[in-house]
Amino acid sequence: MPVFVPKEIESGETRVALVPEAVKRLVGLGAEVWIEAGLGASISISDRAYQEAGGQIAPDRQSALGSSDVILRVRKPPENEVSTLKSGCIHVSLLDAFHERDLVRALAAAGVTAIGLEMLPRITIAQKMDVLSSQASLAGYAAVIAAAGTIDRIFPMMMTPAGTLKPVRLFVIGVGVAGLQVIATARRLGARVEAFDTRPAVEEQVQSLGAKFVKVDLGETGQTAQGYARELTPEQLEKQREVMAQHCAKADIVITTAQVFGRKAPLIVTNPMVDQMQPGSVIVDMAVESGGNVECSLPDETVERNGVRVLGLRNLPGRVARHASEMYSNNLGSLLEHFWDKESKIFRIDLSDEILKHCVLTHDGKIVNETIEKLYSA
Ligand code: NAD
Repeated sequence: MPVFVPKEIESGETRVALVPEAVKRLVGLGAEVWIEAGLGASISISDRAYQEAGGQIAPDRQSALGSSDVILRVRKPPENEVSTLKSGCIHVSLLDAFHERDLVRALAAAGVTAIGLEMLPRITIAQKMDVLSSQASLAGYAAVIAAAGTIDRIFPMMMTPAGTLKPVRLFVIGVGVAGLQVIATARRLGARVEAFDTRPAVEEQVQSLGAKFVKVDLGETGQTAQGYARELTPEQLEKQREVMAQHCAKADIVITTAQVFGRKAPLIVTNPMVDQMQPGSVIVDMAVESGGNVECSLPDETVERNGVRVLGLRNLPGRVARHASEMYSNNLGSLLEHFWDKESKIFRIDLSDEILKHCVLTHDGKIVNETIEKLYSA
């Protein structure tokens, strides 16, 4: 059962789906692993390292795509490659299924079993496969480092004969996996951190990392069974913005990570809020790829507004691509291992499984994920 890992072709993608350690793990299970020549170049891993781990260099991308039983990648496949895939093959990647309707339909029509990793359930048994968590955590780290590289201050308090420097004040909006890593990283660097999230359960986690939780009485907010935030009403959002404005105005750095699963990110920091901030302050909008939490942020651009610099960085995990690839690769290794049938040496798809029923989107020519099916036919 050949497993093939093609090179990522989306512009700016530096991550790699499988590193040699995971190749070794899969080969140990009895899988035959092919990689596209040059796969690890963006993270300085040679083809030789893959071969030493037991992988083989595929003769060429097109024929490997057309003859492999399992294909692993980070980003969604380009639509023009879907027709080259073998019917019945398993394709594992992030798919952005809520927005990529044509692509998901094409995968179904091509008879591909497509696993969309963003749909993995956030349950304990799937934690080791959870690419959203592993990548979000690194994104949080990278966002703080980007802010530190942009602002004209240092993070920690410093008392010297040349004067006392106050610690940087950092405000985090949205404290899921990424936000928690933002807090931890900023605290390690010595920042004073405040944070807010609509899920009240987060308060204790924020405090345990040494940050202050900002309380806002928004009435009922709640969370889904999967632990995701619910979308706020327009009135609740307006109330949230009023309080956020006061905390943004006091902050040197604001990092926003707020997301609502399957929807456009909520707009939290409006232009008038940015205008109330001190010149020299920095904002990082980590939600810029899903619509943005900050009104004036633009993907991959630094927007300057009244002296405040707003960074709209896409693919933050790609800034620490080696570690991001290692974690992503471990996640994939765990997923494949979990569903690997040792006797027949195949990856077994059981649509009643509590993990697969959420993340297998297409199978046997059909869209099989209930949520996606309902969304597309609405
Ligand atoms: P996410 O990326 O969907 O959202 C980021 C954060 O934004 C969330 O904390 C959310 O509450 C918050 N948010 C949404 N709207 C907001 C608003 N208007 N203002 C401020 N904040 C807002 O979240 P995530 O990081 O993917 O985590 C989702 C949940 O899943 C969390 O509860 C996390 O702890 C949980 N989780 C569980 C497991 C597990 O295995 N049990 C694994 C990973 C994550």
